[in-house]
Amino acid sequence: MFGYHANPAKTWLVTKDTHLSEAITAFSGSNVNVTSVGHTHLGVPLGTTDYINHSLSKKVDQWCSELRLLSEIAVTQPHAAFAAFNHGFSSKWSYLSRTLPDISIHFQPLENIIRTVFIPTVTGRPPPNDINRDMFALPARLGGLGLCNPLGQCDLEFSASTAISGPLKDLILHKQTDYSYECLAAQINQKSTIKQLRREQSILAAEKLKQRLSPTGAKVLALASEKGSSNWLTSLPIEEFGFSLHKGAFVDALSLHYGWPPPGTPTHCVCGENFSVHHVLSCPRGGFPSIRHNEIRDATANLLTEVCHDVMVEPDLQPLTGETMSHRTSNSNEGARLDIAVNGFWGGRYEKTFLDVRVFNPHAPSNSNTSINNCYRKHEKEKKRAYEQRILEVEHASFTPIVLSATGGMAKQSTSFYKRLASLLADKWDHKYSQTLYWLRCRLSFSLLRSAIQCIRGARSSRGHAIRCPTQIDLVSNEAQLTNQ
Ligand SMILES: [Zn+2]
Repeated sequence: MFGYHANPAKTWLVTKDTHLSEAITAFSGSNVNVTSVGHTHLGVPLGTTDYINHSLSKKVDQWCSELRLLSEIAVTQPHAAFAAFNHGFSSKWSYLSRTLPDISIHFQPLENIIRTVFIPTVTGRPPPNDINRDMFALPARLGGLGLCNPLGQCDLEFSASTAISGPLKDLILHKQTDYSYECLAAQINQKSTIKQLRREQSILAAEKLKQRLSPTGAKVLALASEKGSSNWLTSLPIEEFGFSLHKGAFVDALSLHYGWPPPGTPTHCVCGENFSVHHVLSCPRGGFPSIRHNEIRDATANLLTEVCHDVMVEPDLQPLTGETMSHRTSNSNEGARLDIAVNGFWGGRYEKTFLDVRVFNPHAPSNSNTSINNCYRKHEKEKKRAYEQRILEVEHASFTPIVLSATGGMAKQSTSFYKRLASLLADKWDHKYSQTLYWLRCRLSFSLLRSAIQCIRGARSSRGHAIRCPTQIDLVSNEAQLTNQ
């Protein structure tokens, strides 16, 4: 053996009781430790069942106290604590699940704390019932929170690890010293099989869960599992990228994600309607839906300036001089304007594209009985009927409707548009396309989320609304009026 010298004092021989005295005699004077109880190797207890059980209990106790500490942090920093759990803490027991068989029962105390302490602190709600706990255990892309149940993972983790390390084990058993290409290929093959299996199991779990949900619950899960609606949950809460939410915003964001009533809201909106998330996402008082629309328009226009020429916000359309439009709902107004015009996005440098943004509320009564895919189609169609013919025939340009749902999903053409934008940005910045697209989706996701939270928390009601004071100029003119009298 080259480059490795075993230190006898740090070496342990674990033997059966019946061979103990023989082993002690054989290794006497070598400083090698001999035991028939057990020893921990690379963080995994090996030895008698009692020894393994005792070591596991100690480990789980330690994780329970760490999780209690994380829950205390979650009181003031729920977003950071949630990310710490998903991006690091949960891998502690994943590792152990992969190395020891049949240990799921030991993780029960951990699951109890996750369910009764950690989840309530992070979500600001009572401990979840069985349906909600199963929903939170789903990956974020399927509408969950990725808060796995440690008991549910064990068997799959262990069998996956056994399968992936199988080719290596064979090499060791056959005393092969070369890590051959065949072994590498076999391991890669096993890894992709396991990945596929995990994906299929998650999809199956989501399908089973849907059958237990009410129609409203199923729609909420469908919206939560749309591409783009969960990026804020999976990204690291990095302040400088604008990806971090304060405690109130995080609880509001979860409430929006799952259609829960946000805590501490008034009973009535200032317009007189009952206060509900569905209502405030569409209520025009305070101008918040316009702010949400403008947020997406400006974020998109800003990114377009990075990669295209001549980006205009709110460009005027040429007035119609006798042209007739075939759709009754076509916009033929004199001062019609769209949200963005850009040159060279889809084609040549001088090829112009007009974009118009719509952010709709998928929970609004007009959309509530329609499937989410039909909602997208309906809004895209409305936009195209209003502008496409005029833009094609009068402006000799192309038209792309940007239709997003307030919960973060996007329509088909918008998906193509943002994929193309990500591809152009990735080329310019010399980044990976997949990373750029993920970043772009995160940016849009946080923009939509912040504006939706503003719809809920904005100073729409008289409560907490600043009273307008006369400015210096007002005071001066008031005084002037007095002297003029
Ligand atoms: Zn209102």
